[in-house]
Amino acid sequence: MPTRALRTPPFEIRSSPIAGRGAFATRAIARGDRVIEYVGERISHAVADARYDDAAMAEHHTFLFAVSNRTVIDAARGGNDARFINHSCAPNCEAVIERSRVFINAIRDIAVGEELFYDYEYQRSGDETAEDEARYRCACGAATCRGSIMESRAAYEAREAETAAKRAAKRAAKRAAAAGVPAPAS
Ligand SMILES: [Zn+2]
Repeated sequence: MPTRALRTPPFEIRSSPIAGRGAFATRAIARGDRVIEYVGERISHAVADARYDDAAMAEHHTFLFAVSNRTVIDAARGGNDARFINHSCAPNCEAVIERSRVFINAIRDIAVGEELFYDYEYQRSGDETAEDEARYRCACGAATCRGSIMESRAAYEAREAETAAKRAAKRAAKRAAAAGVPAPAS
C-alpha cells in the first residue's frame, strides 16, 4: 500500500498538547506514505519485562513495541524519533509489521503542522487490574476515543476466540490424522 518511502522523516519533535513530546509534520504527507521505521533494540518479552517494572516505569512502556509473541522493540535503546509519535484512537498513521520490521505509514493525507499519531492498541492479557486500566487510560481527545491505549475488550475477545478456534482445528486435524494412520501390515 505505501506509495513511497520518505528518505528523511517528514516531521519534527516538539512538545505535544496530548502527551510529553510529539511528532509534527514538517512536510505534507500523502496517504500511504511510509513515514519512518520504528527501530530499537530487539529483545524478548521476558527481557522487556525484566528491564521495565510496570508500575515504576509506566512511561518507558511507551517506547516498547510488541512485534510478535517472541520479539519486542525497545526504542529507548538505539531508537529513532519514531518513539515520540503519540497514540490516538483516531490516528492519521498506522503501524505496519512486515517481516518482523515495523513501519509507520500515513493512512490519510497530513498537512504541515499536524501531529502524527498511530493507535498503540497494546494487547490485553485479559487479567488487567484497575491499576493497569488507569495507567493506560487514553486522553487523546478524539470523539471516538475508546478511553484506553490498550486494545478494546471486544478486540481482545475476538483475538482470543480466533486463537481458540485455531487450536481446536489443529487438535481435530491431529485426531483425524491419527485415526487415518494405516495399521502395520501383519
Ligand atoms: Zn483515545
